[in-house]
Amino acid sequence: MVAGGKSEGELHGQVALVTGGTRGIGRAVAEALAEGGARVGVLARDGNRSREVAEELPGEGHAGVACDVADRERAQAAVKELEELLGPTGILVNNAGITRDNILLRLKDEEWDDVMAVNLKGAFNMTRAVTRGMMKRRSGVILNITSVVGLMGNAGQTNYAASKAGLVGFTKSVARELAPRQIRCNALAPGFIETDMTDALNEAQVEGLKEQIPLGRLGTPEDVAEVVRFLAGPHARYITGQVLAVDGGMAM
Ligand code: NAP
Repeated sequence: MVAGGKSEGELHGQVALVTGGTRGIGRAVAEALAEGGARVGVLARDGNRSREVAEELPGEGHAGVACDVADRERAQAAVKELEELLGPTGILVNNAGITRDNILLRLKDEEWDDVMAVNLKGAFNMTRAVTRGMMKRRSGVILNITSVVGLMGNAGQTNYAASKAGLVGFTKSVARELAPRQIRCNALAPGFIETDMTDALNEAQVEGLKEQIPLGRLGTPEDVAEVVRFLAGPHARYITGQVLAVDGGMAM
């Protein structure tokens, strides 16, 4: 609490960048971090949508830019633009991700390459773009959104599962490399969450999935976002290199 009784969130004074922050999980993450008091930078390929979402977030001083995270130069330029507007990055959430599902024998090179470029190289591009500043300031939090599919595998998603499993190794290596500079890096592994990405599932598939989820329902973007807010904040100060499943018990 501050004088006058107005409460300040635990992320007050922090700048948080959220890739893929315009829809689904990323949007809920941007909202949760803004609720926590952070100034949020929203990045997605659609720059107009990024700016609109930034305007709609709770609190003030947010910004949005166009950025394809798969493009190394654009990722670096977008971080620079946002840091000029918002200040140095304290929290990076690598959430942007895509699927290009196909059975192994039909999987095309482009489907493999596109998924790797966005889901895995995108996280590398963005992490590299913020790391120098975080190292100088000797503080920072990097959170990577992986998936239970990266831990359990999934028929028809060899490309996606490999990209998400890659993020797990990336997370642990970044955590080890940057811990001496007090930079924490963790991953969240959502189960099946109701977003545009899972919209394509038919009713029978959703019912089949529910049977595999001990808590008996698909997750909501907010279920994931609240855990991101916790891991980004001071209560998680002694947690690094972990993969936290947010999946209703699916992958235990
Ligand atoms: P979504 O609803 O499809 O939203 C994807 C977001 O990423 C959008 O904001 C999109 O905006 C952005 N995006 C896509 N490609 C991009 C690129 N190359 N560069 C920058 N931004 C890009 O996805 P979601 O379901 O919320 O998933 C978010 C993350 O959670 C993904 O990493 C996904 O793999 C992971 N996940 C999802 C589930 C699930 O069940 N939904 C489960 C486990 C893990 P633009 O199109 O404008 O770029």
